[in-house]
Amino acid sequence: MADQRRAAGKFSSVPEAERFWAKVDKRGPDECWPWTGARSHRGYGIFGSNGRNRNAQRTAWELTRGPIPPGEGAHGTCVCHACDNRACCNPSHLFLGSHRDNMLDASRKGRVAKARGTRNGNAKLTPAIVAEMRARANSGVSYAALGRDYGVTRGIARKAVLGLSWGCSAEKGDANRGE
Ligand SMILES: [Zn+2]
Repeated sequence: MADQRRAAGKFSSVPEAERFWAKVDKRGPDECWPWTGARSHRGYGIFGSNGRNRNAQRTAWELTRGPIPPGEGAHGTCVCHACDNRACCNPSHLFLGSHRDNMLDASRKGRVAKARGTRNGNAKLTPAIVAEMRARANSGVSYAALGRDYGVTRGIARKAVLGLSWGCSAEKGDANRGE
């Protein structure tokens, strides 16, 4: 009986992952993986799942890293892009942030922002960390070394230090969330 249940579960869940990755242009590990399906007017990939449209990077996160933890505020936890490509689905370019982090980042446009503690171990770059990375880069630490220290690629470390849209704007326009 347990075997039957498990089999039924497997057959209903596998196609979604296959359907998802079929629409992602997977490239090198450090490159952006563009979503090739529909995009929102804000430029995020849109993936239809169980009758709902979701931002594609959220599904990319869940398929590779696991559930997105609940966050504070009306919009919960965002899956943000460390690259400047909103349609990117490369899991190594994604990090978790709160809605407030994102608003803060968007409003200050890369200026040093007040530290917001991260509430989970998955978030890699917060405004506070980026400020620290910039200070270390100014004192001569290489992007490659920074990337190693903070668990991101050299390219992302460089973008963060140079202020090239390491964060994402809030995903508040997208109605389907609540995880
Ligand atoms: Zn990317």
